[in-house]
Amino acid sequence: MHETKRVLVSGGAGFIGSFLCERLIEQGCEVICVDNFFTGTRRNVRHLLDDYRFELMRHDVTFPLYLEVDQIFNLACPASPVHYQHDPVQTTKTSVHGAINMLGLAKRLRARILQASTSEVYGDPNVHPQTEDYWGNVNPIGVRACYDEGKRCAETLFFDYHRQHKLSIRVARIFNTYGPRMHPNDGRVVSNFIVQALRNQPITIFGDGSQTRSFCFVDDLVDGLLGLMNKNDPYTGPVNLGNPKEFTILDLAQKILDLTGSKSSLEYKPLPQDDPKQRQPDIAKAQADIRWSPKVELEEGLKRTIPYFDTLLSENAPL
Ligand code: NAD
Ligand code: UDP
Repeated sequence: MHETKRVLVSGGAGFIGSFLCERLIEQGCEVICVDNFFTGTRRNVRHLLDDYRFELMRHDVTFPLYLEVDQIFNLACPASPVHYQHDPVQTTKTSVHGAINMLGLAKRLRARILQASTSEVYGDPNVHPQTEDYWGNVNPIGVRACYDEGKRCAETLFFDYHRQHKLSIRVARIFNTYGPRMHPNDGRVVSNFIVQALRNQPITIFGDGSQTRSFCFVDDLVDGLLGLMNKNDPYTGPVNLGNPKEFTILDLAQKILDLTGSKSSLEYKPLPQDDPKQRQPDIAKAQADIRWSPKVELEEGLKRTIPYFDTLLSENAPL
């Protein structure tokens, strides 16, 4: 009989996954981190490699996987528009085939499984802020569809495995999350702006910068994922996890300029296709059901993130 909880984290060498693996190890779990290193790196988990409870496995979740665990966090999927649009067919495969493979594994093991879904299931929302019962406004044939529809189909699969096979599932709808270990070249707004500011290069504002996002610090998000996974059955979600404080992209640029003391100018660029105009989670459900709300203010989180990129850039390490 195996006493220690064994947890599989797919996408565990990525930005959020690496913090999740770290926290699970701290809690005394054994962690199997599965990743194909498309956007994640060994560097993100190098501090865990010597821990006997940690195992790193190169594997692509679009292929079946056979191992023994008690819980599964399914995070494998490129998350930034630049990366998920780089190979859109692979993105859909990762979301859909990846979900099928992870759900199949969970079914065989009778393991609980959590899906890292996204606010993108709401598309360019015409309900604001977004509640979990909103069905979304997604362009099914646009350039973001490989990600948005892939994640929507993954949610469908999770709920069908739950209804049909009585699988214990959790679905987290994650809103924009930031922190150390974001990929410096992944094109997401927080990492882009910090890298540009530290290099005194122009800050690239897409559109007029009036579009809004709500930014959650990664430590808060990991608390939410763990709270959701460990909530007793019967429970499924979906649950929004994000920071409800909304900022325009121009506000964000200004904050990063102030905190870095950068001399960067602002450079306006065309707004990408289907770029949502506003996004803000309604987190009443997470507050009520798992007693979760984020604690880290944007300024505090940026102060904890900027030094990571500063070190990375000064090391000149291969990115
Ligand atoms: P990330 O790109 O840093 O991490 C994703 C990880 O998945 C990477 O390590 C990557 O190499 C791995 N991966 C990709 N395809 C794979 C495959 N086929 N097989 C195995 N591994 C694969 O992104 P992140 O920000 O850490 O996002 C983690 C999860 O959270 C993703 O599922 C993403 O959709 C979701 N999410 C993130 C955010 C956010 O703001 N960061 C928002 C909403 C949802
Ligand atoms: N954005 C920007 N400049 C950049 C990168 C992004 O103005 O260099 C904008 C982007 O158009 C979007 C917002 O910032 O409106 C958030 O973009 P991101 O790619 O981080 O995530 P999204 O929420 O769009 O998935």
